[in-house]
Amino acid sequence: MPSVFIKTYGCQMNERDSEQVARDLQERGHTLVSHERDADVILLNTCSVREMAEQKAIGKMGMLRKLRREKPKLVLGYMGCMAQRLGEDLQRSSPHIDLVVGTQKFHRVAEYVDEALKKREKAFEREDLADLGATINPIVDVAAEKGSQNTIRDHLPEMKKEATAFISIMQGCNMHCTFCIVPTTRGEERGRPIGEIVNEARTLVSRGIREVTLLGQIVNLYGRHEFPKVGDKSPFVQLIEALHEVDGLDRIRFTSPHPMGFRKDLVECFGRLPKLMEHVHLPLQSGSDRILKSMHRPYTAASFRKLVADLRKTRPGIAITTDIIVGFPGETEEDYRASRDLAEEIAFDGAFIFRYSKRGDTPAALMEEQLTEEEKEFRNQDLLSVVNASAASILESCVGTRQEILCEGPSRNDRSRLAGRTRTNKIVIFDGGNRFHGQIFDVAITSASSSTLYGDPAIVDGDAPPA
Ligand code: SF4
Repeated sequence: MPSVFIKTYGCQMNERDSEQVARDLQERGHTLVSHERDADVILLNTCSVREMAEQKAIGKMGMLRKLRREKPKLVLGYMGCMAQRLGEDLQRSSPHIDLVVGTQKFHRVAEYVDEALKKREKAFEREDLADLGATINPIVDVAAEKGSQNTIRDHLPEMKKEATAFISIMQGCNMHCTFCIVPTTRGEERGRPIGEIVNEARTLVSRGIREVTLLGQIVNLYGRHEFPKVGDKSPFVQLIEALHEVDGLDRIRFTSPHPMGFRKDLVECFGRLPKLMEHVHLPLQSGSDRILKSMHRPYTAASFRKLVADLRKTRPGIAITTDIIVGFPGETEEDYRASRDLAEEIAFDGAFIFRYSKRGDTPAALMEEQLTEEEKEFRNQDLLSVVNASAASILESCVGTRQEILCEGPSRNDRSRLAGRTRTNKIVIFDGGNRFHGQIFDVAITSASSSTLYGDPAIVDGDAPPA
């Protein structure tokens, strides 16, 4: 059977979507390969959040054209956000593609791959691929499809070796921040029913998964249009409570939330649900109220500050990470200072700092007062130094403490060592054998670098490490 290589750009939701496509392909008998040279089908799951991500995928597809010259039956396709945004127009930059499949059609990719393989085979038999790199009419499907959010629910069987998994609980976003292309690429908010999500979690637990991360573009506003509140509890809080009841599931995380979705009912969950991990990724985007308004972010620096204080009061020691954009159109030195000061005051555990980049089809791209690249770069580096300092100091303060971790397997950078995550989502590297894999246990933190903790499970008082 044909072999398939999938390359994924962008966020965890894209990773999860690729996993679903891989699973569908396996069910049809395809094999997955980890090198493009070994593949009969190459799919690029794309990201549109920044122009650079799109250029990368288009550049990659250009390189793959050379491979087609060696393997004329090779099927090449785009799927995901850029495919959704550009649709048929992608033929202009990549005339040799066979497939363009949008974000609401991941469940059709396997079927389209088979169709494209047949088309290419036929063209090859007819010998009308005079130039072996030649194109055939691509299959393009970027239409919206009702209920498509319910199709991302299967996981790869090899996952039984893993201890953690992602669950997509919703698709799309209705917030329309003026810099963001997601509402165009992912469509309207659509949530999956609570019962289906809980069943998926139970299946994962039966395969050895101990931690799930719930995924959504505005994950904590999950279900607000489809499912009713019960008492004062939002659908998202109802979902967390239902997952908390799943036996064998030990840890629950979610990403990415919107500050607007942190109402009292959700903040309180951190005080009463021990399986909910002590980490919130809380995108600030700007510390200036004027810029927040221009971004169409409906909160203020003061309300964000209060939310952080409430979370810290409810669950002392909770880790808070964030996203901040510098150089948004019209951002003055004073506006930037407000972001810098707030970041310094809050002392985040970590942050992604983004230089604003124009995205077509967004209101901010048309705003006047665009900043120069030099101004953006200066602010980017300056703010990075602020957040790196707080992140390093928080890691340093963990040295000498005892932390519960879930061991996820070999460290990415040093396969001879193991890696686990603390409840606050910090990576801990330590020495040990296979017996630790998938186990939850305490380690003594012995040292810290600027981004990682190092620990030793053997020297924790009292408890023996897992057998
Ligand atoms: S809430 Fe997030 S995904 Fe939605 S428009 Fe704003 S930045 Fe984009």
